[in-house]
Amino acid sequence: MKDLYAVIGDPIAHSMSPIMHNHLFQFYGVDAHYHAFKVETENLKAAINGFKAIGIAGFNVTVPHKMKIIPFLDEIDPLAREIGAVNTVVNRDGKFIGYNTDGSGYLKGLSSVYDIQKDLSVLLIGAGGAARGIYFTMAQSGVEHIDITNRTVEKAEQLIEECPYAVQSNAVPLKEAEADLSQYDLVIQTTSIGMSPYMDRSPISLQNLCSNAFVSDIIYNPLTTKILHQAKEKGAKIQNGLDMFVFQGALAFEKWTGIFPDTDRMKNTVLTQLGGIQC
Ligand code: NAP
Repeated sequence: MKDLYAVIGDPIAHSMSPIMHNHLFQFYGVDAHYHAFKVETENLKAAINGFKAIGIAGFNVTVPHKMKIIPFLDEIDPLAREIGAVNTVVNRDGKFIGYNTDGSGYLKGLSSVYDIQKDLSVLLIGAGGAARGIYFTMAQSGVEHIDITNRTVEKAEQLIEECPYAVQSNAVPLKEAEADLSQYDLVIQTTSIGMSPYMDRSPISLQNLCSNAFVSDIIYNPLTTKILHQAKEKGAKIQNGLDMFVFQGALAFEKWTGIFPDTDRMKNTVLTQLGGIQC
């Protein structure tokens, strides 16, 4: 009988994870199937109990359940506990173990195209769940200076206060970040600005961006957001969110099967589905 894997979230119809993982199962000869389940928040506990009852082999967790799922799991990996969010669950002998591969997936994706030096000056735009995973993982990896700017600057302050790893950080209002943009080597965009319904917007002006800066946006649909278009016009190098998506999925696949999959193959599978050309 095939092993069952899944992703749960709400909404979930747009998820590229089933296509990506089912392609990998087939390619590596793993007798398994991956399915997307829409789970509303009030049904989360029942869904987890149902997964236990049927012996699901593993699953991904997406918006809005990444934090809410924690009380329903048997064990949480230390980094996922620090981040306070789980995106990957492994069924180990009937116990559900929660991990977070978003931050490490982001870092692996970034390092596939950019040399991450510890003394970089980094600006993180956004202070939501994805920003939290990226910030904590980067700080844990030894990056020394990461400022955070966000529409709600108090959330950036809170993120900095809660970070358990040593890192120099300032919470910077958006206007200040725009004015001082030339001091940053790496700008990471993690807000929802750039995707529908905000496709015609950029979270900050890039007027003062250095042409040798690197701008990374974690959105991958559209593949090239407004901020990435603007960064390219300024001569900066850019990366969209496809690498993060692919590498967080690759790390989850490795936890489930022991195989670290071919990320180029994964990327091509998703790109074909999106009908796009990599930026
Ligand atoms: P989240 O926790 O809801 O955080 C949303 C962030 O966007 C916050 O910083 C929020 O600022 C900001 N924001 C939202 N609406 C805004 C607006 N109208 N104007 C200015 N700022 C606004 O969401 P998340 O889970 O971190 O996800 C954020 C984005 O990352 C989404 O686009 C998601 O698709 C993408 N993502 C990509 C991957 C990947 O694998 N590539 C993985 C995870 C997430 P406030 O704090 O002021 O509300």
